[in-house]
Amino acid sequence: MSTNIGQKVLDKLKDEISQNEYNRYIKHLKYDEKSSRSDIAIFTTNNILSAKWIKTKYQKKIAHLYEIESGLKAEIIVDVKNAKSKQRVKTVSKKEQSNQSTLLNPSFTFNSFVQGDSNALAYNVSKAVAETPGKQYNPLFIYGGVGLGKTHLMQAIGNYRFNMGDKIIYNTFEQFLNRYTNHLRTGTMDRFRDYYRNCDILLIDDIQFISRKEQTQEEFFHTFNELHSLSKQIVITSDRAPKKIAGLADRLKSRFEWGMLVDINPPELETKIAIIKKKSELNGIRLDEEIVNYLATKLGSNIREIEGTIIKINAMSSLLRQKITLEFTKNAIEDYLSEKKKSITIDTIVDIVSEELNVKPSDIKSKKRAKKIVEARRISIYLARNLTPNSMPQIAIYFGMKDHSAISHAMKKIEEIIENDENLKVAIEELSNKIETLKLQN
Ligand code: ADP
Ligand code: MG
Repeated sequence: MSTNIGQKVLDKLKDEISQNEYNRYIKHLKYDEKSSRSDIAIFTTNNILSAKWIKTKYQKKIAHLYEIESGLKAEIIVDVKNAKSKQRVKTVSKKEQSNQSTLLNPSFTFNSFVQGDSNALAYNVSKAVAETPGKQYNPLFIYGGVGLGKTHLMQAIGNYRFNMGDKIIYNTFEQFLNRYTNHLRTGTMDRFRDYYRNCDILLIDDIQFISRKEQTQEEFFHTFNELHSLSKQIVITSDRAPKKIAGLADRLKSRFEWGMLVDINPPELETKIAIIKKKSELNGIRLDEEIVNYLATKLGSNIREIEGTIIKINAMSSLLRQKITLEFTKNAIEDYLSEKKKSITIDTIVDIVSEELNVKPSDIKSKKRAKKIVEARRISIYLARNLTPNSMPQIAIYFGMKDHSAISHAMKKIEEIIENDENLKVAIEELSNKIETLKLQN
């Protein structure tokens, strides 16, 4: 049936353009049924120049005709099919590959990873995957909040396998996406496929950005299936569980759940202490026990931030030529924490809560009483109170509430809920984590 669609589109196109144009460009254009899918229609022609020309001149028209014929909106791809381009593919993708494997951070190893209750399962499963890839846990899907060690574990698997001689591809999902759109644009999807299907281990970091990108999901689905059927190990990380990724196709969701799904939680106090010790040791910084404990209680759960803070304290101490005492650490941290508070606005909080809970910002700021909206509003208020220097009356004004007592009521309510709902507690912890990280990057 789809062959007919492609051919029908070409026939229709013939009617719409001059005979001359048809003979020069469209005559050699063929519909590639095998590579096409419902939302990607692939046509091939015999050389790059005409492919380019067809794309600029006829792509829109073809897309339109395709939609009329099939009732579906599709991306139209004009590819080049000939032996020469196939050969070029091989050499280029080999070069790209060796660059890719060096993108692993060599310091992200199992040895440098501190285990604790919050990450023990993720650690053990990752270790098992590194030892016997493509077997028990394929794919391995690691999820959890920002700065909790997902990339570290994923790359620890990569480094371990790299040392065993495996071919590794490490890509953030964004890199996968960019590569995909570039190859689409230049009509070199065969190179794209060649690249991803020629590895032993595929590591895709931060897959949550795949949300609602149907076409890329489709392509990723095929990459996944191909590698999986060859028993090649796939490791994926995400800031949330597959079922929480909005607009993720069911078949991908189920693929992600085929193997092993593990989460990493914010570190508990002991793990934080162990991490601070390890990080200061690795950076050649000596910290007394009481300083380590102070930092562990004072700092949040984002380990990237904890590490950054230790390095900053050390830098300050050598700049000012002062010893790192508890007093010195306290001052440094106070400055740092109040700076951080100042830079976070309620707008940012509402934006992030809105995105995470899938509630519109305007609804959060409205007086609507739907359960989901009320919850998003309460969480925003709670975070505004904790992460920004705004007073209760200021927050009341922002959310269009009567006065500070409405805010204090909302705070009590959410604190009560958090008390009894471990999941919400973790979710809020991760939200504040995200907000703080975001602001620090600005
Ligand atoms: P994520 O990918 O979850 O956002 P990363 O893996 O990039 O977080 O970790 C952030 C930083 O914290 C990295 O420098 C990493 O080495 C460090 N880190 C995270 N978890 C641990 C851990 N359990 N032990 C040691 N370092 C850790
Ligand atoms: Mg990461």
